[in-house]
Amino acid sequence: MTVHNFNAGPSILPKEVLEQASEALVNFNNSGLSILEIGHRTPLFQNIMDEAVSLARELMNLDSHHEVLFLHGGATTQFMQVPYNLLDETKTAAYIDNGVWGSKAVKEARLFGNVEVVASSKDKDHTYIPKDFSVPADAAYLHYTTNNTIEGTQWNTIPETDVPLIADMSSDILSRQMNFNRFALIYAGAQKNMGAAGVNLVVVNKNILGKVSRKIPTIMDYRIHIENGSMLNTPPVFAIYVSMLTLRWLKKMGGVAGIEKINNEKASLLYEAIERLPMFKAKVAEEDRSKMNIVFVAANPDIEKDFLEVCKKENMYGVKGHRLVGGFRVSLYNALPLSSVKAFTALMEDFSSRYN
Ligand SMILES: *Cc1c(COP(=O)(O)O)cnc(C)c1O
Repeated sequence: MTVHNFNAGPSILPKEVLEQASEALVNFNNSGLSILEIGHRTPLFQNIMDEAVSLARELMNLDSHHEVLFLHGGATTQFMQVPYNLLDETKTAAYIDNGVWGSKAVKEARLFGNVEVVASSKDKDHTYIPKDFSVPADAAYLHYTTNNTIEGTQWNTIPETDVPLIADMSSDILSRQMNFNRFALIYAGAQKNMGAAGVNLVVVNKNILGKVSRKIPTIMDYRIHIENGSMLNTPPVFAIYVSMLTLRWLKKMGGVAGIEKINNEKASLLYEAIERLPMFKAKVAEEDRSKMNIVFVAANPDIEKDFLEVCKKENMYGVKGHRLVGGFRVSLYNALPLSSVKAFTALMEDFSSRYN
């Protein structure tokens, strides 16, 4: 049975990663032990952690100021951990509110200090990326979401600012080339584009740490995680293993540059079909459309249910839009093959011709 997995997260992983991960669940590296049964301080696991870190460094082209961490929790933990480490109570952090995830980050930051929302796309239901805004020169940092998973918008450029730049890249990490060294801190929940739920990739420029006056609980302090090589306590062993395998796969695919080409092709194919078929409509401003999460609606809302039915029959998963946005959302993460997008656009064509 061919299935097409357009889920928004947790989402599709490369088949070979799933096969290797399931093998390791029973017999890891011919040790006779499951990956779930080995101590995290054994060489068996230390090798996994070392390889995961070094692959991330290599794929992102990181300089020596940047540290790679694999930390517990989802991106939601980082909404708190970022201001905990970087925002003094009397200081102000600048945030861009591009959608659901960005506004959740704002809410958490307000628990730690002042927040100035320097740009928002709320006036148009977050269907565009704000372009004209200024960031106070004394802001502790600027935080934004590179790809808005729910609303289907994505930044094409890196915002210009002199203050430390922080990005939630949960839904487009390693999907396109970027100057990752430009960022003071990057975080991404692994379950969208690089692995299993339960772990965050955090890339941090160590020079920005240690400047807040508050006391930071041990488990929340990035500096302590750096000192301990992401092994302050028992790390999410299996989730890190799956990330490592996915990073290995990505390297084999030609790294970020290689996957970006395929991602561009996938997104063009789908947007082109949406534009061509009068039955479908994208609401997001053309220049700000996400290449990871393609959000669109039916020109006539009455057919939405029928189309979703047809998708279900064809084993196409995850096409229904987020409950806050409605319509459809088709996620084209790194592991999704071009053939799935071709199958989906063929179905759109077929459905359109039968309806017209
Ligand atoms: C999914 C997502 C989150 C939340 O991730 P969790 O791991 O569930 O906490 C945050 N930001 C973005 C951009 C996301 O796509």
